Amino acid sequence: MARIRDEDVAAVRDVADIRDVVGEYVTLKSAGGGSYKGLCPFHDERTPSFHVTPSKGLYHCFSCQEGGDLIGFLRKLEGLTFTEAVEKIAGRYGVELRYDETSSRAAASAGQRPRLVAAHKVASEFYAAQLREPGAQKAREFLLGRGFGEDSWAQFAVGYAPQGWDGLTSRLRAAGFTEQEMLAGGLVSQGQRGVYDRFRGRVVWPIRDTSGDVVGFGARKLFDDDEGPKYLNTPETPIYKKSQVLYGLDLARRDIARQQKAVIVEGYTDVMACVLSSSAASDVYKRQCEDPAPDPARHSRCRS
Ligand SMILES: [Zn+2]
Repeated sequence: MARIRDEDVAAVRDVADIRDVVGEYVTLKSAGGGSYKGLCPFHDERTPSFHVTPSKGLYHCFSCQEGGDLIGFLRKLEGLTFTEAVEKIAGRYGVELRYDETSSRAAASAGQRPRLVAAHKVASEFYAAQLREPGAQKAREFLLGRGFGEDSWAQFAVGYAPQGWDGLTSRLRAAGFTEQEMLAGGLVSQGQRGVYDRFRGRVVWPIRDTSGDVVGFGARKLFDDDEGPKYLNTPETPIYKKSQVLYGLDLARRDIARQQKAVIVEGYTDVMACVLSSSAASDVYKRQCEDPAPDPARHSRCRS
């Protein structure tokens, strides 16, 4: 991963106000002497022992001894890497970051990334809206059949890629995206007579990176005459690196950091089931298998 230049990290440290940022997570009150205190986000307490000292740019909990600077605070609380924490603060204060090595991420962020992220946002909204259309009946039946009611669709932004060849292509073209950008983002495929929608007649899940941007899609086949694989994903693109993205991590990251525990499951619907059940009962994770076959041998890996 690209390394942010030292002088830019220093600029971020300079401009950031630890009271401002920490104040988004913790209600801070004056503790005198220019310090502030609140309830510690790292342990359960009823009397504030968590202190923030803006003049030093530091926080410290006198109870659990957690402490450090703002970058450390975000790393610990949000489960971010150093680079991600710096990027988050830089984004908030409008500091432009430069990277030392020319990695794919740095190159992409130089110009292409914002366009590809914007195209994915349009695509994600298009698919989500399509799920409500008459043509999406099979997709709705699929989701309802697995216990995912309408109220959960928006939470995961699950959608439907319509049959036909140019539903998304037309939408992206109307929104000002070029065929080259659609191809670079893996949203369309190249045919002999131009580009066409990569995902057709499928349930579609947007895949987000840790910053929350949609960078790719996973799509499940619904129709018997679909000769493609059961699951079709976005190919490797400048913004979608399979080895660096885990579906649902954006939803679970805070809990993983807090509980120091991660539960990895296989499918998109498994993740949905886990998130829904963990929000219902904070640390009880249920697993739900995609395969309805009654044969227990087929479920040996699905049990928990
Ligand atoms: Zn504490």
